[in-house]
Amino acid sequence: MPIYVYKCERCQRVQEEFRRVHEIDEVVKCEVCGRECVRQITQPANAYVSGYPYYDKILGLEISDPGHRRKVLKQQGLIERG
Ligand SMILES: [Zn+2]
Repeated sequence: MPIYVYKCERCQRVQEEFRRVHEIDEVVKCEVCGRECVRQITQPANAYVSGYPYYDKILGLEISDPGHRRKVLKQQGLIERG
């Protein structure tokens, strides 16, 4: 399951949360002060993958080709967008 990084705007605390794709827009609250946290863009390069194989840091494994990627996403219950 992918891990997303959230940062508190008030106290700057960073926390990691497991989120499935359909959950990433859910509000995460700071464990210290309770303020809403902002999701950090941690892996921008993944949106621009042009070649295979590559190591997908979000999925946590090496992707050998587009078919393999689809298979992994399906196995993890994820839906690819865009
Ligand atoms: Zn906080």
